[in-house]
Amino acid sequence: MADFKVIVVGGGPTGLITAHALHKAGIDFVLLERGPTCHPDIGSGVGFWPMSLRVLDQLDILDAIRPVMNPTAAKKTYTWDGTLIQEEPMETLVCNGEHFNMCHRTDLLKALYDSLPDAAKSRVKTNKRVTDISVSETGVVVTSEDGTAESGSIVIGADGVHSKVRQIARQLAIKENPKAVNLNLEMPFTVAFDALIGNFQNVNGPAGLTSSVFYETHSTGYSTQVFRGTERTWFIVYRRLKEPRTEKSQRVVYTEESTQKFADEIADMHITDKLVFRQLFDARERALVVPLEEGVTTAWHYKRLVNVGDATHKMTPNSGMGLNSSVQDVTVLVNKLHALVSAAKAAEHDTITTEELEKAFGAYRAQRQRFVDGIVVNTARELRMVSWGSTYDYVMDRWVWPLFGWRSVRFRKGFALFIAACQVLDFAEIKHPLFGSTPWKNFPKVEARGDPDPYDEAGVFDKSK
Ligand SMILES: Cc1cc2nc3c(=O)[nH]c(=O)nc-3n(C[C@H](O)[C@H](O)[C@H](O)COP(=O)(O)OP(=O)(O)OC[C@H]3O[C@@H](n4cnc5c(N)ncnc54)[C@H](O)[C@@H]3O)c2cc1C
Repeated sequence: MADFKVIVVGGGPTGLITAHALHKAGIDFVLLERGPTCHPDIGSGVGFWPMSLRVLDQLDILDAIRPVMNPTAAKKTYTWDGTLIQEEPMETLVCNGEHFNMCHRTDLLKALYDSLPDAAKSRVKTNKRVTDISVSETGVVVTSEDGTAESGSIVIGADGVHSKVRQIARQLAIKENPKAVNLNLEMPFTVAFDALIGNFQNVNGPAGLTSSVFYETHSTGYSTQVFRGTERTWFIVYRRLKEPRTEKSQRVVYTEESTQKFADEIADMHITDKLVFRQLFDARERALVVPLEEGVTTAWHYKRLVNVGDATHKMTPNSGMGLNSSVQDVTVLVNKLHALVSAAKAAEHDTITTEELEKAFGAYRAQRQRFVDGIVVNTARELRMVSWGSTYDYVMDRWVWPLFGWRSVRFRKGFALFIAACQVLDFAEIKHPLFGSTPWKNFPKVEARGDPDPYDEAGVFDKSK
C-alpha cells in the first residue's frame, strides 16, 4: 500500500496526544502548530480522570507526566459567606484505582512534547498556521500562512474551539451542496458563562488552603473551584452572563481592565471560612477572563477531514472533562485508523478510499457522540446548579443534596461507571493496570495486554489475579 500519512492540525494537548497515538500505531504523520512552541505559558490547570491515565500508560508517557500530576483527595464546598456546605472525600481512587490528577497546563504540554520519541518529535512543525486545505479523491494538501504545503492522506483537526479545519470542512460541504443538512453552524457553540482563571506559586500565596483539597464556593450567579497542588494553586470563578452569546459577532475581547473589574465583583467571596477571593487574586502570577463555550458540533467529519477535541465538543471546565473527552476521541479514532491501515496492508490494497475513510470516521463519531452529548448536558446542568440558576437549584444544591450525601452516591453509582466504560487503545499494552471497586469494561486487544482481568464473572474484584 502507498504510504498513509496523517496531517494533524494543532499542537495543543489533543494534538500532542494524537501524535503519540499515531506513532504508537505505526502511522506516519506530521503535526502543524501555529504557535512558536507547543507549550506556551497560558497559565491554567487541567486534570486527568483515571480512564485517560490508562491511555497515557499505553502510550508510555505516564512516567513523564507523573511528576507534574497533583492528586486530589477531598472536596470542601462553601457558600459566598464562608459557610461550609459539605466536606467529602474524592472517591476516584477507591472506585477507579487512581485519583483525579491536576497538572499545570504548561507543564503538561511540555511533558507531552518532550516525551515524544525523536522520530515523532521531528514530525512536529511549529509556526505553521494552517490557512487552507484542498481535498481530492486520493488525499489532502494543507497550506500554512508561510506558504508551505504538506501533502497527506487525511487531516485530523485538533485545532481547538475555533477550528480552521472545521471551518474549511463546512465551506467545502456548502460548496458541494448549499442545501446540505447536518452542516455545522459558523459558531456551533453557545457562551452562557465566562470565567476568571489564574494561578500562583504556593510560596507567594496566602495560608489557609490544604494541598490535595478541591475547594468550591456556590452562590447566585457565581461559583468557584480552587485547587492547591504541591507547588501551585489554580483558581477559576464562573460567572453567569445576563444573555447567552450565540453569534460570532458577539465575541468579546477581554482586557486587563475587564479582568480587574471581574475580580472586584467577587473580591469578598469566601473560598473557605477564613479566606476570601481577593487574597488569591492578589497572589496571582497570571489571571485572565475567558469565555466558556458549550455544545457539540453537528458534523464531525467531511470526506478526508475529521475533528477531535475542542474542535468537536466544548463544555465548561467544572467537570474536568474537556481534555478527558478529547483523549477518548483520539483513542477511538486512532483505533479505527489502525484497523483500517492494518487491513489495507494485509490485503495489499494500493490505497484507502474516501468511502472507507468516511465509514471509519462515521463509526468514530457514532461511538463518541452518545458519550459526549451526555457529558456536555450533565456538565452544563451541574454548573447551573452550583451557581444557583433557579430556586430549585438553590434548594437542592444548598440543602437537599448535602443532607443525603447525594453527590458521593451519584459519583459511585454514575460517574465511576462511566469512567469504567471508557475506551483504551486496541493495539497497546497497559503496563500499570488500575484496580478499583468498579470493574473496567474495556481492555486492549493485543495478546499480551498486560492487564489481567482482575474481576470474576460476577464483577467482583479478585486480588489473587
Ligand atoms: C480553566 C480551564 C480548566 C480546564 N480544566 C480541565 C480539566 O481539569 N480536565 C479536562 O479534561 N479539561 C479541562 N479543560 C478543558 C481543556 O483545557 C480543553 O478541553 C483542551 O485544552 C482541549 O485541547 P485541544 O488540543 O483540543 O484544543 P486547544 O487546547 O485549544 O489547542 C488547540 C491547538 O491548535 C492550535 N491551532 C489553532 N488553530 C490553528 C491553525 N489554524 N493552524 C495550526 N495550529 C492551530 C492552537 O495554537 C493550539 O495549540 C479546562 C479548560 C479551561 C479553560
